[in-house]
Amino acid sequence: MFIHQSELDHELEAFRAEVRGFCARELAPQTRSKMDLGQHLTQPEHDAWLKALGAKGWLAGKWPKDHGGLGWTPLQAAAFQEELGKAGTPWLVPFGVTMVGPVIYTFGSDAQKQKYLPGIVRNDTWWCQGYSEPGAGSDLAGLRTRAVRDGDHYVVNGQKIWTTLAHWADMMFCLVRTDPDVKKQEGISFLLIDMKTPGITVKPIVSIDLSHHLNEVFFEDVRVPVENLVGEENKGWTYAKFLLAHERVGVAEVGKFRLYLGYLDDMLKQTREAGVPLAEQPAFRTRRVELDAQLARLEALLADQHATVGENSAPSLMGAAALKIRGSELQQAILETTMDVLGRHGMAYQTDALLAGWNGDRIGPSQSAGLIHEHLYRRAATIYGGSSEVQRSIIAKGGLGL
Ligand SMILES: Cc1cc2nc3c(=O)[nH]c(=O)nc-3n(C[C@H](O)[C@H](O)[C@H](O)COP(=O)(O)OP(=O)(O)OC[C@H]3O[C@@H](n4cnc5c(N)ncnc54)[C@H](O)[C@@H]3O)c2cc1C
Repeated sequence: MFIHQSELDHELEAFRAEVRGFCARELAPQTRSKMDLGQHLTQPEHDAWLKALGAKGWLAGKWPKDHGGLGWTPLQAAAFQEELGKAGTPWLVPFGVTMVGPVIYTFGSDAQKQKYLPGIVRNDTWWCQGYSEPGAGSDLAGLRTRAVRDGDHYVVNGQKIWTTLAHWADMMFCLVRTDPDVKKQEGISFLLIDMKTPGITVKPIVSIDLSHHLNEVFFEDVRVPVENLVGEENKGWTYAKFLLAHERVGVAEVGKFRLYLGYLDDMLKQTREAGVPLAEQPAFRTRRVELDAQLARLEALLADQHATVGENSAPSLMGAAALKIRGSELQQAILETTMDVLGRHGMAYQTDALLAGWNGDRIGPSQSAGLIHEHLYRRAATIYGGSSEVQRSIIAKGGLGL
């Protein structure tokens, strides 16, 4: 059946309006106010929002229907994420729905699909990503956490690092070395590990933004049932790469950065120098226009990616690398401009203002502390999910044949 383009545009616009309405209605007032001020959410607050999306079927809307999703097109999935970003809703934590879920439904056993997918769709299970180790970040294939088969179990020993939200997680998807005597990419397996298993210790890392979202995770004789191996033993590198492409595309949070450009515009209008709003000063006007142009370019790149990626296939590593570089660098540029507008107010990082209930005297605009936090946190955007240097090498090799 032939469907006219304007009909599709109309449907997409109606869907966007539905998402906007849902965000306006369903986000708890306390959570909304915290998001507006950039304050830290508790896990129950974050969980309640993700569960609301899960109950509507939207959390995993981009998954195929056979696996509990709604079979959204890539365009619809992107529109959904963009509307959530613009509405300033809590982070769509990717570890379950964007990362391990597609790995499980693509490579996992039937028993794993039945056991884990429903918990991801409804957000009943929180996941974390156990990839990086001290000495194995960019060179991920050099990882050394060891899993040795012992009857019906693997016994895991080693350490992961930079594990986001491990302290909230019920489960970790984890890369382990199962064969140390072959080429490094060929001796890796992909395990699903219950975070309550004896022998796991989670230690906090406080980052430059002075908050705790990162962790070290230690494994000491941790017994993981063999049925928690995804796919084949020693084939984990294939699944790991499939997942990384999904992760990198997700980093380009265009909706959220439209929202931040809006905050920037408000501040440019409200902040005056010698009586003139910064919005009217040539230097800031030029930067603002450049940011807009870069965001438009990023949106075009994303649309191109969506047009070429099939519903069930992973994005190409090269396309994902381009999005990762542009998205992360633009995030930093928007936030750096915001810091320049905050000027001297940006010198005072009121971390107490990031806690609910704080009612001290704020320095500068009400969003200052939240935006300074975001600026500091997003210094990591060009590192996490694969550093910019490494992404450029992927493009140099794959696209330019260098
Ligand atoms: C906020 C944050 C959250 C994170 N969350 C998670 C998580 O949840 N789970 C997880 O597993 N990991 C996570 N990470 C880890 C992240 O994936 C790694 O930090 C990243 O892959 C870089 O590895 P590294 O830190 O070991 O740095 P290194 O690999 O040691 O790199 C150091 C520097 O050397 C450069 N470099 C390295 N190799 C090359 C090369 N071949 N060519 C050119 N330059 C190179 C890098 O670009 C970088 O500038 C997180 C990191 C951060 C900062």
